Amino acid sequence: MKKTATWKELTHDVVSSLPRTFRLSDVFMHRKRFEDAFPENRFIEAKIRQSLQILRDQGMLRFITPGHYERLDATPAFSPLIDMSLATNFASASQGTRVALETWASFNLYCLNCDRDELDQLPDNTPVADFRCVSCESRYQLKGKNGRLGKRIPGAAYQPTIKAIRSGLMPEYVLVEFDTRFATVVFVDAFPGRLITEDRIQARRPLRETARRAGWQGCTISVDGLKPVRIVAPAAVDRANVRQQWRLL
Ligand SMILES: [Zn+2]
Repeated sequence: MKKTATWKELTHDVVSSLPRTFRLSDVFMHRKRFEDAFPENRFIEAKIRQSLQILRDQGMLRFITPGHYERLDATPAFSPLIDMSLATNFASASQGTRVALETWASFNLYCLNCDRDELDQLPDNTPVADFRCVSCESRYQLKGKNGRLGKRIPGAAYQPTIKAIRSGLMPEYVLVEFDTRFATVVFVDAFPGRLITEDRIQARRPLRETARRAGWQGCTISVDGLKPVRIVAPAAVDRANVRQQWRLL
């Protein structure tokens, strides 16, 4: 079977094939490779811009001037930065936030069930899950919020969720709490999908006749008492650096 490239792998591949300094338009020349790899993605150009920004945050690129980049020979490192300002050319703010969050996740999250260092984004209309691991087939559902998530999180469509629980196919859950003021993720937690039992699911009222998706029924999931594993947490800056900066104020 042909190995599927993830968004992260393909972006690395394209950027590595370019001269050391390059322009956004040089990356867009490879647009077809992205379209072929992700035929269902409607936001190819926005995703490419976001991806380059994340590679910069991860230390792999330097922005020389707007739209002009330099590739650095550095191994991409984890970055908590998530810039929502690139989410402007979307129909709604929530859609823009979602795409920015998914792009961030595809560059920074990794499989918890095996050693694979990236997750592959699933097509938009995939029921219940957002990402999967191409090595072990684990699936992941991403939930993000600007601020703190409560003890109940929004779930996917009600019936498919119940069906997934009954057939033991619930994805792992990754909860991302971010802060748009500082353009950063603050806490990222994950817990196993098998811990989400049917009694934790509450059906929501179906959407009204006037809604775009009239009749669609979502659900909420109680995560009360579930112990997550923490993927991202704020860390203190080294105190020697803090003291040095302090003296310079
Ligand atoms: Zn895996």
